[in-house]
Amino acid sequence: MNIMFDLDDTLYDKSATLSHYADYLFDNRLTALNLCPQQFKEAFITQNSIIQPKAQAFSLLASQFNFSTQLSDDLLKEFDNTLHEFSVSFPGVHESLTELKNNEVSIGCITNGRDFFQRNKIRALGLDTYFDFIVTSGELGIKKPDPAIFQAGLDLFSNNSDQVCFCGDNLSADIQPAKQLGMTTFWKTRASSESEFADYVFNDFSEFDEIWLHRR
Ligand SMILES: [Mg+2]
Repeated sequence: MNIMFDLDDTLYDKSATLSHYADYLFDNRLTALNLCPQQFKEAFITQNSIIQPKAQAFSLLASQFNFSTQLSDDLLKEFDNTLHEFSVSFPGVHESLTELKNNEVSIGCITNGRDFFQRNKIRALGLDTYFDFIVTSGELGIKKPDPAIFQAGLDLFSNNSDQVCFCGDNLSADIQPAKQLGMTTFWKTRASSESEFADYVFNDFSEFDEIWLHRR
């Protein structure tokens, strides 16, 4: 049995990580600026959750909170090099991946983002020990939902399983293309939703474990 996981907002809790990072910035790097902590935190999480170049996110924050271009450039450099130290995974991720490994499931990771940035997060979370391979859009120059990045992952499994599963949080970038390539899809979503594309829908990893045990 083979499965591939998306990283951001599937295994890696992006908003919890950004929230810790905003606290760190506020307490260590922005003390002289007299900002409202809650307002800064919300803007920081929002700007870094939008799909846009990080340089743009930081320059928008600089203009909103009146800090200098120099400070904004320094913060961006620091963010790229240290965000992974604040990485948080969703509860139960390690337990679920351990269980899959114990059952000799091959596990891959397909993630959109800059190669060093995504790999630093994976290592910091200790997820690299579970993965048979990692494919990043930064390294490949192709990003989800392009089927070619899913195919690159499929080609990396050393066994030839007739059932390959894909688990991700994004319907159009993860679930839809994976389904079209014939994979069994697990959609991680906050609301209890249904979709014509997802075979299974789950909210937390204890639910994932249950579904995995009883899947068709
Ligand atoms: Mg994602």
